[in-house]
Parts: sequence; C-alpha cells; structure tokens
Amino acid sequence: PDPSSRSQALARRAQASLPGGNTRTTVFMKPYPIYAARGEGCRVVDVDGVARIDCINNFTALIHGHAHPALVAAATAQIALGSAFGLPTESEIDLAELLVSRLPAVDQIRFCNSGTEAVMMALKAARAFTGRPKIAKCEGAYHGSYDYAEVSLDPGPADWGGNAPVSVAYAKGTPASVLADTLTLPFNDTDAAVALVREHGADLAGILVDPMPNRAGLVPADKAYLEALRDVAHEVGALLIFDEVITFRLGYTGAQGLWGIDPDLTTLGKIIGGGFPVGAVGGRADVMAVFDPTAGKPALPHGGTFSANPVTMRAGLAAMQLLDHAAFARLDAIGERLRRGIDEAFARHRVAGRAVGLGSLAKIHFTERPVRDYRSAWQTPAEAARLARLNLELLNRGVLAAGYGLIALSTPMTDDDIETVVAAISDSLAEVAAM
Ligand code: PMP
Repeated sequence: PDPSSRSQALARRAQASLPGGNTRTTVFMKPYPIYAARGEGCRVVDVDGVARIDCINNFTALIHGHAHPALVAAATAQIALGSAFGLPTESEIDLAELLVSRLPAVDQIRFCNSGTEAVMMALKAARAFTGRPKIAKCEGAYHGSYDYAEVSLDPGPADWGGNAPVSVAYAKGTPASVLADTLTLPFNDTDAAVALVREHGADLAGILVDPMPNRAGLVPADKAYLEALRDVAHEVGALLIFDEVITFRLGYTGAQGLWGIDPDLTTLGKIIGGGFPVGAVGGRADVMAVFDPTAGKPALPHGGTFSANPVTMRAGLAAMQLLDHAAFARLDAIGERLRRGIDEAFARHRVAGRAVGLGSLAKIHFTERPVRDYRSAWQTPAEAARLARLNLELLNRGVLAAGYGLIALSTPMTDDDIETVVAAISDSLAEVAAM
C-alpha cells in the first residue's frame, strides 16, 4: 500500500457508493485495485501515471489492445451518427455476415450485450428447441452469471465426491430447482461424461462446453472428449453448445475450426465487440428459428435495448476485419514464444511449474503434475501463494496479468514486448524461488 497513491484514494472513495468499492468481482484486488486512466496499444497507464504491458486485455476481450486507430475511427464515426436507435441498422447485418462466413456451423446469429447473456440465450434456445428442461455443463467451467451456467463453478475438494460430480451452487440463494436442472459433467473424462448424459438424456436440452475452459485450468479439451459429447448429445436428442466467448480468439474459425467439430449452437462475446459490450449466439438455422418473429410470437422472444448496438457492431466489424489469417499466425507465434519463455524461466529458477494454453492465451500453473481438468488444476495453498506472489512481482515490474495466472496477448505487442514480459516473469520467478 502506498498512502500517496491515487488508486488508493479512489478505492477509499468507492467504498461508500459501491459495495466493497467494487463493480466486478473479477477486478477486485487487495489491499486496493489499481485504477486505469488510459490505454494505448498494449499498455495501460494507471491513475498514478505508471505504464504497464497489459496481459489481461480486459479478460481476453481486447485482441487489438487499447485505442486501436481503426477501432476508434469506426466507433466514433458511428457515435457521430447516433449511438443507438429503436430500429435495426445495417451494422448488425455486416457483422453477422462476417461471423457466419467464418463459422461453417453458424448459419445465423443473434446479438446481445455480454457473454453471460449469450450463454443464457443459448441455453434457453436449447430448451425452446427441444422442449426439455435440463442442461449439462462441465465442472469448474465459467460461462458467466446465468444461474444454470454458474453451477459447480468452484466446488472445493470436500464437494467432489467420485467422478460423477454433484451439482453445487456457486451463489448463495441459488434455488434447488436450478441445481436439479443442471447436470455437472467431469471435464475431459469421456466415459464418465457420456454415462451421465445417457442417464439424464431424456430430460436434457443441451450440453454446454468450453473447448479450453480458463477457470478449469485453460487446458484444451481432448478432441475425443468433444466428439463424444457431440455424439452422445445427438444420441439423446440434445444440442451441443460451444462457449467460444474466449476461445474464438484462438483462430480464424475459432476453437470449432481448430478441433474440427461443428456445434449446434455457439456463444460468442469479447473480441467480436471491438472493445465494446457484446455477446452473440449463433448456430443451425432450424435451431435459431426459435428467435424468428415473422410468424407471430416466437418460441423464444428476445429483445434487449442495446442488443446489436451500432457502435459495438461497427467497432466489432473493424476488429474482426483486422483479424485476418496473418494476424492469427502472428498471435500464435508470440504465444508460442511466451509459453516457451515461461517454461524456460521455470527451469532456470528450479521452480515447479509451466505454462499451458494455445494461440494468444497462456496460463501459469505452479505444478508439474499433469493438469487435465478442474480437479487436477486445483491449487494447493502453497501453489496459490506462489501465483499471488508472481502477480504482485509482475505488477511491480510493469506487467499486468489476471489473478488466475491468465495471460492474453494482443496484436499490437511486438517481439520486444514479449521479451519484456518473459524477462519480468523470469525475474519474478527468482523471487518466488526464494519464498
Ligand atoms: N463464457 C466464458 C467462457 C467467459 O470466459 C465469460 C467471461 N469471462 C463469459 C462466458 C461471460 O461473458 P461476459 O463477462 O461478457 O458476461
């Protein structure tokens, strides 16, 4: 704590009008968070004037970093024409066409304002389409804050039981009916997951899965696991839903392209809004028809005052146009360099640990045991203490990383920036080794 810090003064001021001074649990930090003043490229300057390389990128959303000139131009041009209307605009068609052209499994798309809302719409669409009540999701996987989607987000070892996880409430006050209608699957355990889906199959509307769930360790799902989920979903008459809110940044055709699997529905968010609030659900035309109002009240009516907001749509289109094959190749290359550099730093300082992840995403695990799922990614108190120390050391060395050890790269990062991040991680690990 630095008593002269403007961040500390703001945090104190925030206490009165915001619960705990906080609006997003995810950005809460003790003793107080660092308040951002502005961003440019891959750097954020805080209210005390300290610049850091941003490896959080608003939790993976900012794939072009901050204030990219093309995105600023697209957004400001639209703001000057009006920021929101009680009418549709051409901008939503432009972005929908781009996304549909990149994702073979997505015939049609519908926009909303967050990933949470996208997941909610996907789950409701699966229920509306199948007429069934239950959804399945993986233990430890984060999908935003719709009641059903946050079941079994963070169960501790005392709640693990065997390899058929029980559904555990995340938030106090979660109705028992929510738990009863949510089936929790073990991530990357094909036999156990398939058996559970078969057991509940007659009531199951959809299986929600993130192909590389951040909170469950950022470990890629086995291709065989995802194929088995797809096959068993269809066997029981349920839909396969990919949550690509984060993983769409892994490649031109998202995780579904990398894995070669066509889900029935896909949720998107984050990068597709060019830095503005966004979410979307897309998929098979026969399923997306639940939203279609042309024949009267649809099976699933959905509005949203700011859905398909033109400022978001214009910035999102500009962001996606910048993300061509060359941009993804470069993100892959700097991501590889980062993960290799992290692994070398762990070896150099003889600290147990390594980096996992793919493409522009990396996550640091302070363990050498194989990490395959939420349970094997579970940190011991000593591992958690090392990660916390690493994050603090990084902050003091000019690097912002997310609390869970997540690093998200952006296109403005140069090779030098990556070397700076790797060096900061190495120097920080020297401190961790001495703990
Ligand atoms: N799904 C996944 C995989 C996410 O990572 C997130 C947010 N981090 C969400 C859904 C929810 O998105 P939002 O924060 O925009 O509501």
